[in-house]
Amino acid sequence: MTQIRRDNHNPTLIIGGGLSGLFSAWLLQQMQQPWVLVEARDRLGGRILSEPVVDQQPDGGALDMGPSWYWPDMNLRISTLVEILQLNSYRQYAEGAVLRESAAGQIPDKYPAQYSAGYSRRLEGGMANLTGALIERLPAQRIKTGTRVNQISLNDDGSYRVNMQHSASGEPLTELTADKVIVAMPPRLVAETLTFEPELSVEMLDELGSIPTWMAVHAKAVVSYPRAFWRELGLSGMAASQAGPLVEIHDASVNRADGTLAGALMGFVGYNAAARHTLGQDKLKTMIVSQLTRLFGDEAAQPDEVYLVDWTQEPLTASAADKVQNPHVHVLGGLEEISDEAHPNLVFSGSEASRTFGGYLEGALEATERAVLALYPDAEDSLSDVWEFRRW
Ligand SMILES: Cc1cc2nc3c(=O)[nH]c(=O)nc-3n(C[C@H](O)[C@H](O)[C@H](O)COP(=O)(O)OP(=O)(O)OC[C@H]3O[C@@H](n4cnc5c(N)ncnc54)[C@H](O)[C@@H]3O)c2cc1C
Repeated sequence: MTQIRRDNHNPTLIIGGGLSGLFSAWLLQQMQQPWVLVEARDRLGGRILSEPVVDQQPDGGALDMGPSWYWPDMNLRISTLVEILQLNSYRQYAEGAVLRESAAGQIPDKYPAQYSAGYSRRLEGGMANLTGALIERLPAQRIKTGTRVNQISLNDDGSYRVNMQHSASGEPLTELTADKVIVAMPPRLVAETLTFEPELSVEMLDELGSIPTWMAVHAKAVVSYPRAFWRELGLSGMAASQAGPLVEIHDASVNRADGTLAGALMGFVGYNAAARHTLGQDKLKTMIVSQLTRLFGDEAAQPDEVYLVDWTQEPLTASAADKVQNPHVHVLGGLEEISDEAHPNLVFSGSEASRTFGGYLEGALEATERAVLALYPDAEDSLSDVWEFRRW
């Protein structure tokens, strides 16, 4: 039987610098526990990605290429964090008619705005302000970007030996020793890309591999305009289309620093990853602009910029299994167990591990809370002082 050392000489290693990893770091920082965070990308945020608006104006705001929304009625953790971090939020624009396009040549049907997007909220400055505000509150020297974890091995004394490489060059880096490990990565990426010594149980590997990485199969487009002209036409910017390429469209306009509005429409591409790849980004962007022109009129033909992120092209988000995933399957159940018997001081976190909001931002916080409490069962009181988890 392995002796587990509990004297915390080595920091807790957090693998992944998405919302879950950064929130883990923030909780441990508040609990005054030592930690180190390792992120394979050169940037932090993971699936949270806000791109600056490229137009003629200085500081034109930021457009969300990953998540845009949270739902305050259901997402109590995110709402609380937004409050604690003193971020400004605003309601998703949903005033005016909704369009429905059955085929490319037909005039779209118009319906009054009727659905739940009206209750979702977005963050001023983009969702990256959420991760940005956490990063600002964390000591930078404990965060290593551009560093990829390959292998995690349990030492005889119960600590972990972690092998890493420089993400860009593949060069091996000095190994790190940690007393506890939080793996804040999509479960499928864990199953496909990390090696464990001793190996994870077959049941755990199966479960990790069975949970699709939410939205990893999708491509999101945002098209920016000098102004939100559709609003003046009594249109909400919302549309559903069977003709494509975008199947679901919403207003994504953002406030510039000078108080004016940069117009933007965002949408999800309805074609699968293989079809997107065959078309190529340039062709797809042209088709998107022509669809928006069909729906919203001639002014839509003159965008400032077309932004497109195909998340299947992001190997640190989409696993091989995600690239061929049915886009409509959303596994909400999360992980039954978050640790493997062979690795008692290692827990799996990340949004997909969440039992209640798997895949969502709220799930990333819920899973983190569960992971931190599993590793620090004695810390309930100090955790509840910094984070109101007893409220949910
Ligand atoms: C297009 C899109 C739209 C979305 N819309 C919404 C929305 O409106 N509302 C909502 O609630 N949710 C939405 N989501 C989901 C939301 O983005 C996720 O739930 C959340 O960001 C997941 O955070 P995470 O930290 O669990 O995982 P991730 O953000 O995936 O973070 C995992 C991190 O691990 C890193 N990593 C991977 N492998 C390694 C390794 N070997 N070593 C070190 N680091 C590694 C990755 O680079 C990444 O930074 C959307 C997602 C996408 C892509």
